[in-house]
Amino acid sequence: MGGSVRDLLLGKAPKDFDVATSATPEEVQDVFPRCRLIGRRFRLAHVRVSGALIEVATFRGMFSPDDDRDQQNGRILSDNVFGTVEEDAKRRDFTINALFLDPVSGDIRDYVGGYKDLTERRLRLIGDQGVRYQEDPVRLLRAARFVAKLGVEPDEDTAKQIPSLAPLLENVPTARLFEEICKLFLTGHGLRSLEALQRFGLSTTLFPGLPKGSGPGKILIGPVLHKTLGNTDERVRTGKPVTPAFLIAALLWQPVQERSQALIDAGESEYVALMNASEEAISAQVMRTAIPRRFSAVTRQIWLMQARFKKTQGKRWKRLLYEQRFRAGYDFLLMRASEDPSLEPLCKFWTKAQRGVDFQRDLGYDRGSARDRPRNRYRRRAPTTG
Ligand code: ATP
Ligand code: MG
Repeated sequence: MGGSVRDLLLGKAPKDFDVATSATPEEVQDVFPRCRLIGRRFRLAHVRVSGALIEVATFRGMFSPDDDRDQQNGRILSDNVFGTVEEDAKRRDFTINALFLDPVSGDIRDYVGGYKDLTERRLRLIGDQGVRYQEDPVRLLRAARFVAKLGVEPDEDTAKQIPSLAPLLENVPTARLFEEICKLFLTGHGLRSLEALQRFGLSTTLFPGLPKGSGPGKILIGPVLHKTLGNTDERVRTGKPVTPAFLIAALLWQPVQERSQALIDAGESEYVALMNASEEAISAQVMRTAIPRRFSAVTRQIWLMQARFKKTQGKRWKRLLYEQRFRAGYDFLLMRASEDPSLEPLCKFWTKAQRGVDFQRDLGYDRGSARDRPRNRYRRRAPTTG
């Protein structure tokens, strides 16, 4: 159901299969004793079937404002009133996400005209814009994401109010917005996601610390960000790992650079200036989207390394090569060179410096660095919601 039926009909491989059922989570647990019940706002059962994790959701009923469900200014905080399959379809976000595959008959069940919308590549919100975006403002971002990911076009009743509703995102828990930006930018259509966010006027709400662009809700997209998003899409396409740390480094680079330059002009040393500017940029961003510390720590290292790359004289420069985040810092330097050709000699220096270095052997002899070897947990796993 939901996203998986949509992806199958589009000929794309679904990331995951979600199951919807009339059974309550407790009844699901009775049949599958090894399943776990999760979630608060939206209770689900996680069932393991031969190693795969399957999300099983009970059909949700329609929401009405005089319902006793928890809500805050129209935002639904708890959504655990059960209903029929048709009601469940109607409380999904977009029609193309509301298709069900009946496992017994093999039929597609469509209560909202999602099939026709899909064949005509149309994104259509179910119900009234004001109400449905208010209920869950993340749907604004999901609209942008599906435009980017699926190449669908929103109809007028789906798109018109998005720019004016953007401020609703300010009330969404920051952790959820972090998950969303990872889905927007780290799943292979990052450039198109940014285009869609710009078009819908959602960028400034999501990235309040970035310089404003021309047009409401638009940010100024710097070359480093543009280059990084393109590069990230390519890495996803070729199966290489991507990390939120690098993405955040590129997203916030412009304010970091501008602020640190201002501090340098005021007499601060380059390293201290960069450190303070980093701190400010990250603090501003975490007001809107959480950034787990394991990522922001790496982001800071990437930025600070940009100052350290300049020190190519003497004996100490070589140490940098063995640092845990050298490669990420170096890749970031390459992204910057696309904006600033004067960095080319520095890029050449550090490219050459890596030749003939046996990282494995040298790390093995140096206990301090060996401990710092990159660990897999910093690599981003595919988002698990679904
Ligand atoms: P993806 O390909 O990114 O997984 P998806 O459509 O499957 O996209 P999920 O977040 O996995 O998105 O959600 C699964 C389904 O649950 C959606 O297809 C949709 O029917 C429903 N859904 C998800 N989020 C919302 C929401 N905020 N409001 C209403 N329905 C939602
Ligand atoms: Mg999904």
